[in-house]
Amino acid sequence: MKQSNRSFPSMTADFGLKTDPRSDLPLYRQIATQLAERIREGTLPPGFRLPPTRKLAAELGTHRNTIVAAFEQLTASGSLVSVVGRGTFVADAPAPRPVPALEPTSFPWSSVLSRATEAVSLQLADRLRRRVAHAPGRDLVNLQRMEPSPDLQPADDLRRCIAHAFKTEGPAALGYAPRAGLPRLRAAISEDLARRGVPVPAEGLLVTTGSQQALDLIARVLIEPGDTMLVQNATYTGAIHVLAAAGARLVGVADDEEGPEMEALERLGRAGAKGLYVMPTGQNPTGRTISAARREALVGWSRRFGIPLIEDDFAADLDLDDTAAPPALRALDSQVLHIGTFSKRLSPALRIGYVAFPGALQDHLTALKHAMDLGSSLLLQHALAEFLERGLLRGHLRRILPEYRARRDALERGLHKHLPPGLQWSRAQRGVVTWIELPAEIDAEEAFSRALDLGVLVSPDALFTVHGQQRGLRLTFCAEPPRRIALGTQRLGEALHACLRVRQRGGTALTVV
Ligand code: PMP
Repeated sequence: MKQSNRSFPSMTADFGLKTDPRSDLPLYRQIATQLAERIREGTLPPGFRLPPTRKLAAELGTHRNTIVAAFEQLTASGSLVSVVGRGTFVADAPAPRPVPALEPTSFPWSSVLSRATEAVSLQLADRLRRRVAHAPGRDLVNLQRMEPSPDLQPADDLRRCIAHAFKTEGPAALGYAPRAGLPRLRAAISEDLARRGVPVPAEGLLVTTGSQQALDLIARVLIEPGDTMLVQNATYTGAIHVLAAAGARLVGVADDEEGPEMEALERLGRAGAKGLYVMPTGQNPTGRTISAARREALVGWSRRFGIPLIEDDFAADLDLDDTAAPPALRALDSQVLHIGTFSKRLSPALRIGYVAFPGALQDHLTALKHAMDLGSSLLLQHALAEFLERGLLRGHLRRILPEYRARRDALERGLHKHLPPGLQWSRAQRGVVTWIELPAEIDAEEAFSRALDLGVLVSPDALFTVHGQQRGLRLTFCAEPPRRIALGTQRLGEALHACLRVRQRGGTALTVV
């Protein structure tokens, strides 16, 4: 590298470096970003010698350590090199290597694709048409998103726990995790389950990459293509997809006031099935909770027919009215496959879920988990274990539950005020969703499209049903603050009124005013 020895220029006058004390970005990052920009655009060429840190600090009116930190960041990224006794220089830029584009060619992929993959991607594409993840420039109230808004996620605490994992474990935190999950995390989850009355020892738990993976593993362990899997008439979209990918034939079971209808289950049980997948608490998408008596009945049914129960407790801890849910199915029977997650009560980015398995399935599930991804992130497992061991989950729930309650209440007030008379919705006592039943005159797809046009995003029933047995719209109340939720209900009310007006005037969209 050729190095320039000319006298040091003024970085503020000659190169326009500035700092903004009001910015959220730390000062050293502000300086590093600006220097990197000058290097990228060639204003500071390779070999250029930067002023000594003390001089630059004086010029920018900041502490010398700030400049040292900025230089360190740029040295670590390879933009600067420091030569002992001589100073810090802009590094030689690696010459960009031209990568010639490949000729477009064709390949008979359709002849080698598996049937299950094709079916799932078709279904997925069809369902995802109704998902509008990003609409840049549009003011859309999002009553579709099923994750806590960023202000309800414990970013600072998680950052500290990740930093602590690095400090205490060092580079060891960057390796692969034990197959079944980090023992201290499994112990912490076991304790958390015990707090909620579910007795599962740490050894009875498998840590998974989100509870989605738990579902996937269970599907793979149980299902032969063509096998029947029972689900609630309206069920979690992601479950439909993984079960279908495993080749299951999904059969919907209707709910009555207390939960899945026992009469229907008696009939279906006789025909045999590989499992019944249920979300007993705050069900996605209906928000309903299965009664204590029906939970007992389900466990008895499972035993009589030898059909496993798969319990998805995704809404655990989200009790909005301070009334605990009835005992989990797994608290009633150790043969229940109980799935849990930290995505809703904490953060989806952890991608940490778990399954409490019956002893007989331990080896199968653990081996398959290893085969699928060689384990979930060790670093994040350490961080979550730290979070749980410090007792931070309780404090976090104390903070978020009143906010969820306020959001749920804003939603209900808005629905009361704006929905056409006669429309019914479920009151959400737990979890993060509310379901509006639609009468025959309103088509969910039309309601979805009109609502989208008016600036509110909701989920139509087709996302959740296998054979269209349940008519309605799902609204989530976790992703937007109360004020926005109120606005969303106003827009949705307008959309539903418009759907009804169209019907009353003979079904042509042109008559909408
Ligand atoms: N179960 C239900 C009912 C869900 O709604 C979701 C995600 N929305 C999951 C499982 C999977 O979530 P994760 O993989 O983030 O744990």
